[in-house]
Amino acid sequence: MTEPLFREDSYRREVEARVLAAGANGIVLDATVFYARGGGQSGDRGRFLLADGSSIEIVDAVYDADRRTILHIPAAGATPPAAGESVVARLDWDLRYRRMRAHSALHLLTAVLPYPVTGGSVGDGEGRLDFDSGEAVLERGDIERRLNALIATDAEIRARWIGDDELAANPGLVKTLSVKPPTGAGRVRLIEIVGLDLQPCGGTHVARSGEIGRARVVGVEKKGKINRRVRIALDDGGA
Ligand SMILES: [Zn+2]
Repeated sequence: MTEPLFREDSYRREVEARVLAAGANGIVLDATVFYARGGGQSGDRGRFLLADGSSIEIVDAVYDADRRTILHIPAAGATPPAAGESVVARLDWDLRYRRMRAHSALHLLTAVLPYPVTGGSVGDGEGRLDFDSGEAVLERGDIERRLNALIATDAEIRARWIGDDELAANPGLVKTLSVKPPTGAGRVRLIEIVGLDLQPCGGTHVARSGEIGRARVVGVEKKGKINRRVRIALDDGGA
């Protein structure tokens, strides 16, 4: 299995790690800063720097079938390192940081729109959530004003862990119906935007809401009788 360093420190950009295996499926390290695809957030991109001065482009990171081992997917045609070799795994930080900001903005969007979430994804500086908003009227400009007001409070964003039993006793914490929090490991990670939002999440977030900067609501679309898709984008990047 791979030690997922991004879970405790989303700001860590690189790590020196040992190659445990490298095959057609991908490259496995003993530890990584690369977020593996999940919960609507894409896998990280970046490079592995090798001892001989060469480097390998990594285009994605995914979980293996055991959900504990992370496979780093090299660009087509790359020669993988040998097992036992040491590499420096370095993120495409600009991309990751835009994802952290957009992802954190989506948490605040669920505070603005307190409806069940049925789906969502985080892209490069943009993201979307689908809400079962019933008969409520969602107005783009109003959502954008309220979202930016929450961002501007510069609230602390922090993680804490609770037991599966504690989560089961508080089902109201789970806003996202389509992505069940990963229970079974005995504990679940909660992301708290202090005073504003609390929900289970395994993704990467910024430390304070002010880091998100201004966000735009770029679309509110009908996805069904009671379902609305809300798209947001960071003002300085993304769609
Ligand atoms: Zn999250």
